[in-house]
Amino acid sequence: MSAANFRLRLLGTGTSSGVPAIGCDCPTCTSDDPRDRRLRTSAAVQFTDHAGQSRTILIDVSPDHREQALRAGLNRCDGILLTHSHVDHAFGLDEVRRYNALMGTALDLYADEPTLQDIRRVFRHSFHSDQNQNDSFVARIVTRPIAPLQEFWIHGLRVLPLPLLHGRQEILGFRLEAPESGGPLPLGYCTDCSAIPPQSLAALAGVDTLILDMLRERSHQTHLTLGQAVELARSIGARRTVLVHMGHEVLHREVVAKLPAGIELGVDGMELSA
Ligand SMILES: [Zn+2]
Ligand SMILES: [Zn+2]
Ligand SMILES: [Zn+2]
Repeated sequence: MSAANFRLRLLGTGTSSGVPAIGCDCPTCTSDDPRDRRLRTSAAVQFTDHAGQSRTILIDVSPDHREQALRAGLNRCDGILLTHSHVDHAFGLDEVRRYNALMGTALDLYADEPTLQDIRRVFRHSFHSDQNQNDSFVARIVTRPIAPLQEFWIHGLRVLPLPLLHGRQEILGFRLEAPESGGPLPLGYCTDCSAIPPQSLAALAGVDTLILDMLRERSHQTHLTLGQAVELARSIGARRTVLVHMGHEVLHREVVAKLPAGIELGVDGMELSA
């Protein structure tokens, strides 16, 4: 088992409303720095499996997915990992029907049971397409329930779901790794959290690269602040930490100047590879 040429592309690094926010004239929303334009947070993991086949796995499918896929040149999907069912992470799911068409197969969707319940309800037209009035072009998805700290494998990539606290709600982060692979693996992906429970912190030990939630500097009930994210990043100790899910209070050039070595702000389209 191996995952050669592993890379993770940040498809989006913005909070739920995106940046710029509709109708806002704040310095970030009116900035002409391209680093201040953020589609909703999600990522594409790409690697070559042991048989030489290139693989693309999505982490969340944002409402901006179509635009993100076009920008990144995505043309296949070998699995979808969902962190939780919030609109900004899951409501692009209709767009995956294009991968169904390109590949001629249904797609595996990995998520915890509460997330899958929401997805089956919201995307009823996909899961109960026999009840649609017309024979419509809907996504074909196979649900694969996963559970915290129960590892599974996708095409040679080991995935360990990590419980994260998103306010009072428990959602999932992921630790990704593959035997015989170097940086940025092992990689931790922890968006949408306000705290990381001890068992997940233990499971993140030794990651090379950490993707970590950071909404803004002011406190928030369901997201990490800059100060909290920096403190957590230091305690986890990855070689490289990249902050994502930023709101319009984060003006890139101002906030990046406040970061210690080894911690950086994510930018849409950023590719993390060896
Ligand atoms: Zn979010
Ligand atoms: Zn704004
Ligand atoms: Zn959320």
